[in-house]
Amino acid sequence: MTAQLDVLTAMKKSYFFILLFLMALLFSSNSGWSQQVSQNNGGVMPSAFILQSLRKLQVLGSVLYVAAHPDDENNSLLPYLAKEKMYRTAYLSLTRGDGGQNLIGPEQGIELGMIRTKELLAAREIDGAEQYFTSAYEFGFSKSMDEALQIWDRNKVLADAVWVIRNYKPDVIIARFPPDARAGHGHHSASAQITREAFIAAADPNQFPEQLTNGVTVWQAKRLLWNTFNFGGANTTSNDQFKIDVGVYNALEGKSYGEIGGEARSMHKSQGEGRPRRKGEIIEYFTTLIGDAPTQSLLDGVAIDWTRLGQNAESISTSIDAVIAAFNPLQPSLSLPALIKIYKQMQGLPSSVWKGYKLHALQQIIEAAAGLSVEANTVSEKAVQGDTISFTCTINNRSTAAVTLENFTLSNQAFTKQVGQKLFQNKNYNYTVSLPSVAAKNQFQPYWLQQPKKLDGMFLVNDYGVLGKAWNDPTISVQFTCAIEGVVFTITRPVQYKYVDLVKGECVQPFILIPPYELVVKPTIVLTGVLSEKGKKNPATPLQLTVVSNQEKQMGAGVRFSLMDQKTGKEVYEQGVDSVFNGAKTTTIEVPLARFYNPATVSNSITASVAVTSSKGTQHYNERLQKIVYDHIPNTHYLLQDVVKVVDEPIRVKGARVGYIAGSGDLTEEALIQLGYRVEKITAANCTLSYLAGFDAIVTGVRAYNVNAFLKEGYQTLLQYVQNGGNLIVQYNRTGSNGLTPPMAPYPFTISAGSRVTEENAEVVFSNPAHPVLQSPNLITARDFEGWIQERSTYQATAIDARYEAPLSMHDKNEQPSSGSLITGAYGKGNFSYVGLALFRQLPAGVSGAYKLLANLIALPKR
Ligand SMILES: [Zn+2]
Repeated sequence: MTAQLDVLTAMKKSYFFILLFLMALLFSSNSGWSQQVSQNNGGVMPSAFILQSLRKLQVLGSVLYVAAHPDDENNSLLPYLAKEKMYRTAYLSLTRGDGGQNLIGPEQGIELGMIRTKELLAAREIDGAEQYFTSAYEFGFSKSMDEALQIWDRNKVLADAVWVIRNYKPDVIIARFPPDARAGHGHHSASAQITREAFIAAADPNQFPEQLTNGVTVWQAKRLLWNTFNFGGANTTSNDQFKIDVGVYNALEGKSYGEIGGEARSMHKSQGEGRPRRKGEIIEYFTTLIGDAPTQSLLDGVAIDWTRLGQNAESISTSIDAVIAAFNPLQPSLSLPALIKIYKQMQGLPSSVWKGYKLHALQQIIEAAAGLSVEANTVSEKAVQGDTISFTCTINNRSTAAVTLENFTLSNQAFTKQVGQKLFQNKNYNYTVSLPSVAAKNQFQPYWLQQPKKLDGMFLVNDYGVLGKAWNDPTISVQFTCAIEGVVFTITRPVQYKYVDLVKGECVQPFILIPPYELVVKPTIVLTGVLSEKGKKNPATPLQLTVVSNQEKQMGAGVRFSLMDQKTGKEVYEQGVDSVFNGAKTTTIEVPLARFYNPATVSNSITASVAVTSSKGTQHYNERLQKIVYDHIPNTHYLLQDVVKVVDEPIRVKGARVGYIAGSGDLTEEALIQLGYRVEKITAANCTLSYLAGFDAIVTGVRAYNVNAFLKEGYQTLLQYVQNGGNLIVQYNRTGSNGLTPPMAPYPFTISAGSRVTEENAEVVFSNPAHPVLQSPNLITARDFEGWIQERSTYQATAIDARYEAPLSMHDKNEQPSSGSLITGAYGKGNFSYVGLALFRQLPAGVSGAYKLLANLIALPKR
């Protein structure tokens, strides 16, 4: 699943990752409310960044920006607030963007949500803001606020937003959207409504009082603003609104906030949101929703200096000014004595959110001023829970400061290593540790996926220890106790996998502890009723259950497989295996469906589990390890349970050989194989008329014309194939960035991003019921449109040439009927079809009607 992204050159990338890390260090917040630092270079930062951090130390004001999705945030405003105004700045995205379309790979749903979460974190590391979430699931496009708030658990989303506000305690909250149709998306208007309600509820002790016994206090923010906009066909700005130019230049960064914003937004790669580095004026507009209107700055009326923490704190400000005035960028360690004094002064203040936040920020400045590099690295990406783990702690004091490493300890493990070593200038001190790891803890599993969802629109997260956070804490962290100039600091670093790639250079990735066994079930779709042209039944593919051992040494384990009806949880089949793992890493059994599947008593969702018995007792496993790899974000590991969908209906197929052109992410190829076709991939290398001539049909994956450069020319070969009697079935594509439809079709039509049917149960009208696509070889009825998920149709055809036939019509509530979900037409001796219908979502979900439609499209008669 590696995606090669040519957006950044190698040179820009290396610079970029250094920057990522530095920014993370600069602005990550205190205690449990800090985001995960994904890249670790030991903790160093250049002098310009130390100076920037010192200046930020003087500002005690904060802003929380709230919207619905990854990419809703204002990417020039956030760095302006974090680095120019030097406010503590955060973005609360109600969702993780699970339901969108993935432009860079095959991941959908929760996997896409993980990618987009990490893309937000990558953007935040550039713009200096923090990132938070609620437990709302992004279920796909929603046209109304009411629908969004109904599918989400409205009260839980509100509670989560209140929890973030009560923790973070923003002075000013900024909504991105209005609570009405101008927001353009039901989630957007719902986010505005939730923001307003949360602003009020956070200050009310009678709202969500259970939070108040879990470590937070009520919070009254000063004002609620709306950051008005001019995009998506709505201009909500006006000249009488409060205005700021956020395009100003930051000399310490060597960039304007428009440039930083362009870089941050370009992290939203899975959405194709690459943007230029903008130079020059950028005016942002604000209107006041609650509280008095600002006249000078967004934080008018808030004490944003040290006076905020009382009379005793004022001298801290004077001391910081003195450090800034005397700061020597060539020898930042000269500032250490003064910085240590300020640290002690801060320690004397009464406890508060600001005290914790500023102590943490100052500690990072002190570490950087001492040129102190601290890291804990492994040479392998993962180890098995309970097995030995080895890692090396490396610490180097690159200044003349007096630094002693007293000891280091491990999180989640009872381990302390006493050291007592004075660190001499620019010497590497290495300590290698080997010890048994804790067993049976899947710390790497994203916390919002640790329990199965109970509602379609919500993840199940009730643990206040993680609620609101962007990601889990690292699997293992090391706490180094160091004395710097006589004061003891605890420096925490994650244990990370560090290696050298001969092309990329030094790389750092998360280290994880994995379960000893995994279970893999294949295939996850089984069709029991596929009938060939002559009415002969194709045998259903048997299930393959494979237990994979991750252990180096086998403990003479015995294995027992079980299959369960997911709906009832009842075991429907079990099989023990006597002799397993004789030097092998895997053991597989094959189970024909006939042994357990009876549609009268068993539902069409089957799960599996495996019990492994060894000298350590019996443990159950039902998941396999998955890994998502992209260059612009850290690697993502998670555990996935396979669910087998049984499609138990007669489905007639015609034709034998189908060509498939991969798109940017769908499982259509697997579906074609389960339908019994011989599937061959069409690529740039074999897209020739003579090769294509042998196929009964050619099917393209979603957005195939957007992601395959060879189709810019190759579409002509495909059309020639159609003209000669072929059958081309094109699943949806997006319009290009220039608004044009990629050339693909024999007759004109326009692909419209705005033409979609998002209600998955919208009524489907058969406007031409006699059309072969609804008749043969499978008769399509209203029943075939039952049980659809997420949406009916997307990126539909509009302005359709009269030579196409459009046999279906459908629409969302309160909208005009649209006929662009499926268009098909004769061209020469063959057929061309464009399919906006979301078959790509229905096929993996086991919706039988989608299989019948696909089979009918492939069977369209020669003309
Ligand atoms: Zn959005």
